[in-house]
Amino acid sequence: MPTNNLCQDSSDVIMSKSKCAISNANNQTKSYRMELVWRNIWLMLALHIASGYGIYAGIFHARYLTFMFNYLYLILTGLGITAGAHRLWAHRSYEASRATRILLMLFNCGALQNDIYEWCRDHRVHHKFSETDADPHDSRRGFFFAHIGWLMCRKHPEVSRKGGTVSMQDLADDAIIQFQRRYYKLLATFFTFILPSYIPCVCWNENAYVSIFICTTRYTLLLHATWLVNSAAHLWGKRPYDNHINPVECKFVEILALGEGYHNYHHVFPYDYSASEMTWLNDINFTTMVIDFLASLGMVTNRKKVDSNTVEKRVQRSGDVSLYRQYQQQHQRSWWRHTPLPMMIMFLAPVFALYIYRRLLSYLYYLCFHIENRWP
Ligand SMILES: [Zn+2]
Ligand SMILES: [Zn+2]
Repeated sequence: MPTNNLCQDSSDVIMSKSKCAISNANNQTKSYRMELVWRNIWLMLALHIASGYGIYAGIFHARYLTFMFNYLYLILTGLGITAGAHRLWAHRSYEASRATRILLMLFNCGALQNDIYEWCRDHRVHHKFSETDADPHDSRRGFFFAHIGWLMCRKHPEVSRKGGTVSMQDLADDAIIQFQRRYYKLLATFFTFILPSYIPCVCWNENAYVSIFICTTRYTLLLHATWLVNSAAHLWGKRPYDNHINPVECKFVEILALGEGYHNYHHVFPYDYSASEMTWLNDINFTTMVIDFLASLGMVTNRKKVDSNTVEKRVQRSGDVSLYRQYQQQHQRSWWRHTPLPMMIMFLAPVFALYIYRRLLSYLYYLCFHIENRWP
């Protein structure tokens, strides 16, 4: 391998160990060839085929209660990523009581996206070396790579090399994080698949196969919602706060990723607990709403927020001032953003859509075959 040859071939040259290591790393970077991890590719393929069947089972066979339960579980496990791994542990943007941290850690187990320690290390590296070879999901390599492709190949050597310079001591000292890390396989399997498949079968007599496949679909949907922050929110949108960086304000990711789509702002001010300039009262940011609710109960404290003067100065220095003014006017004009309406639509739309879809199908079925089709 060329990586090792550099030191072996130059035996006549006295080279210290550190110089050798640096040369190796540089050589690795120059000679980097993408290496596919076929095990992960097959796993992803199997997951998506099972999820496709899960969608079919959800529409045609599942009980409404199973559908609603999985939707609620999707949001709770999503909070384990957004409010937990991301805003609490990766960025330390607020503090939480022990009970809240344990709860978020358990929700996080149900998301099965690596343990919190590993998730935070990848995310801190992503922020520090964004859009470089050291970025684990470098969006310069295209949508597919930033979205899912980065999990299907070996990491670029720069990710490990520069990743080692990111401080992780706070998480190494955190007993809850270390507990999760130690028992992660067990906890993640139980909270991602076993518990949410078991509850519908026991509580409202759902078919076991239907329950398992819907559970798989729920997990896959959460993966894609999270991945959209790495892909779409680095490629498709506007940059009012800093137009010299890739991350953007991405409208549909704001909703699908529970308030994580304000990515241009987030990369400029990563320590803001809201991951957006506005609060949930002015914008669609479900995670911020939950954090504020927990704060009103005294379970969350010390929420860090960037003041408007600092934001204004930053926009003047590196952003797009006219675009920023447009954003402000849009926020003032759209009255519906100042109501709980977007949140209510977000919660009710999928169940309502399923109901309408099933009614329409039943009607068509009756028209064609004169048979009444009863849904579970
Ligand atoms: Zn990012
Ligand atoms: Zn972040």
